[in-house]
Amino acid sequence: MINYDRILIRYGEISTKGRNRNKFVEKLKNSILNVLNEFPGIKVESSRDRMYVILNGADGKEVSARLKGVFGIQSFSPAVKVNKDVEEMKDAALALFLKDYQEGKSFKITAKRADKSFSLKTDELNHEFGGHLLRNVPGLKVNVKKPDINLQIEVREEAAYISCETIQGAGGLPAGSSGKAMLMLSGGIDSPVAGYLSMKRGLEIEAVHFHSPPFTSERAKQKVIDLTEKLANIAGTVALHIVPFTEIQQLIHQQVPSNYTMTATRRLMLRITDEIRRKNDGLAIITGESLGQVASQTLESMFAINDVTTTPILRPLITMDKSEIIEIAQRIDTHDISIRPFEDCCTVFVPSSPKTKPKRDKVRHFESFVDFDPLIAKAVEDTEKMAIKPQARNEESFGELF
Ligand code: ATP
Ligand code: MG
Repeated sequence: MINYDRILIRYGEISTKGRNRNKFVEKLKNSILNVLNEFPGIKVESSRDRMYVILNGADGKEVSARLKGVFGIQSFSPAVKVNKDVEEMKDAALALFLKDYQEGKSFKITAKRADKSFSLKTDELNHEFGGHLLRNVPGLKVNVKKPDINLQIEVREEAAYISCETIQGAGGLPAGSSGKAMLMLSGGIDSPVAGYLSMKRGLEIEAVHFHSPPFTSERAKQKVIDLTEKLANIAGTVALHIVPFTEIQQLIHQQVPSNYTMTATRRLMLRITDEIRRKNDGLAIITGESLGQVASQTLESMFAINDVTTTPILRPLITMDKSEIIEIAQRIDTHDISIRPFEDCCTVFVPSSPKTKPKRDKVRHFESFVDFDPLIAKAVEDTEKMAIKPQARNEESFGELF
């Protein structure tokens, strides 16, 4: 019986990246080797416009399930490599076709001839192989517009490749190909989704979480660790910085009028995150803000909060509705962790009526009575840095995540 011996991987967007292409291909290759590290025999061959995962006996379905989560893959197809001998190719095509065939399905052939010296032209390949299948598979119908099965035959210099299936990849750009950014990670629904979407565009993330013991509990911290672990499943170990924030929050509440405490709190969080970013060579900060969702996320609020830094702040959810965000949270498996009912530092100290239109000059004025710099330095100094590893891969749900 014929078995797939490789998986053909199409890059999609990265193939348009000109001079950076080699770097991108290298990053993608690393991501793939990373998710497949428990299959020892596997090899990855890369070229300008595609990659092959050589299975060497590994289970094609399991490997495919892993590949579905890898950013930078547009689509992929389990395939077999055969000699460029028409009879041999026909036998292989028919055997592959029959592997998963159910009666009543329609098909078409998509042939490509990269090797222009090959004896059959593209049209001739289509005819020859289409005829061969029709003669040998009873009840089979052709449907060129919307076939159930698209049998692809590609004749290249070194060999011919045959595949029956094209599986949608995760899209995006390879992990780490866009540089590093700090993700402000609360225990809520939004920020893990913002992290996921940033990773999708090739960002390496380090998470920063503010906690205020004893007002926030160990279980609230554990929630953030568990969320970070879900993100680590996607592209490998993620650093998590836990910032002790109690002292600063208490001082804000003593010094700043209550309707401005929320704005001041956010400004201080941003200053601290920016300092941690600087120390860890990041180039941006990511938040889970969505326009107008709550008082701190009006345009006026963002204007007043953003005032403390010129570092780019990426807000991947800015135009999304809550329902759209929840949908992604469920897909990436963070939703149920996020809705665990533990307080975070902002809910504990939240004023009854935060200003929805804070004024930048006012918050600057209120803050000016306190020298926050030494407290910021101390918070950064006392920040706990953890390396959060991916969960064990034998979890059943892993392949279904994406
Ligand atoms: P989330 O669901 O991400 O908590 P939210 O809708 O509750 O978002 P806010 O509480 O206003 O919104 O927080 C806005 C953003 O500020 C969050 O998405 C997150 O990026 C950041 N943030 C809030 N609280 C914390 C925290 N304790 N530690 C780190 N970042 C935080
Ligand atoms: Mg929140």
